Amino acid sequence: MKQVTIIGAGTMGNGIAQVFASKGLQVALVDRSQEALERAVATIGKNLDRLIKKERLTEVDKSLALKNISTFTDLRESPTADADIVVEAVFEDLKVKESIFGTLDEMCKAETILASNTSSISITKIAAATKRPDKVIGMHFFNPVPIMKLVEVVRGYGTSDTVTQQIIALSKQLGKVPVEVNDYPGFVSNRVLMPMINEAICTLHEGVAGVEEIDTVMKLGMAHPMGPLQLADFIGLDVCQSIMEVLYYGFGNPKYAPSPLLVNMVSAGKLGRKSGEGFYKYEKGSKELVVASQFVRA
Ligand code: NAD
Repeated sequence: MKQVTIIGAGTMGNGIAQVFASKGLQVALVDRSQEALERAVATIGKNLDRLIKKERLTEVDKSLALKNISTFTDLRESPTADADIVVEAVFEDLKVKESIFGTLDEMCKAETILASNTSSISITKIAAATKRPDKVIGMHFFNPVPIMKLVEVVRGYGTSDTVTQQIIALSKQLGKVPVEVNDYPGFVSNRVLMPMINEAICTLHEGVAGVEEIDTVMKLGMAHPMGPLQLADFIGLDVCQSIMEVLYYGFGNPKYAPSPLLVNMVSAGKLGRKSGEGFYKYEKGSKELVVASQFVRA
């Protein structure tokens, strides 16, 4: 594969663009926001500078990688029609993704593989917006993309063996470790992770232990690098709630019901790190972990 289009230049899109461009692929990075595109290219430049400082990259590698990226605010002005693969990384919204995949299906050559980086939406549903479900697949990267090794390769109901093998090979070419999974709610990553986070929130809600105690048990007892409540803040409590809802409705099983405390916090705008407060309070410039006042134990 030589030519890739990445749609969405946010948190995930810029990392995905960096990884592809660093391996010599031609990247068309598309976002409807010019500001997002500029921020993405600046972030990639900074990330590559950090690698140069660590002597893992040369200035020449950096300029080659940056040269491989061109940016577009209009999909139709980009070279996407001839792309070998498109990786979509826009907002987690089925309607938005369906509309993008419908357009891609119309404009791309017949061989183009259409991949989504969705963390919870059904690949089979997204594929149903196209006439090429055999070529639609999940390519689920993890944040931060240049560092995290895993790619969860999600096979929709109609995804072909050939396309799955091509994406596995491509992930390896990018220096990642692909794991093939089938398209069921939460795939494997969020099916296992989110109920654990939700259970930690239930444990806090029931007063079994406090925020620091729960996170300490999981860090020191289970060797998790981050406790589940801190991780929930990092992911965003709104994202956690919506993934629990995908599991809850997808399986029709009450064991996946989002914790009432999680729902309340999201309704109150306490979304974790991005809103300045979740289970912990986040002050700009401070790395200290401070439990939010309502959770401080007497
Ligand atoms: P983000 O909000 O940081 O970025 C989304 C970008 O998409 C924005 O720059 C926005 O301008 C752009 N966009 C929205 N609609 C568009 C359109 N119609 N055309 C072109 N650009 C459009 O989001 P993110 O955190 O990077 O997440 C992107 C996807 O990756 C989601 O599906 C999410 O579930 C998935 N994901 C996120 C993470 C994570 O940790 N953030 C991890 C794995 C997967």
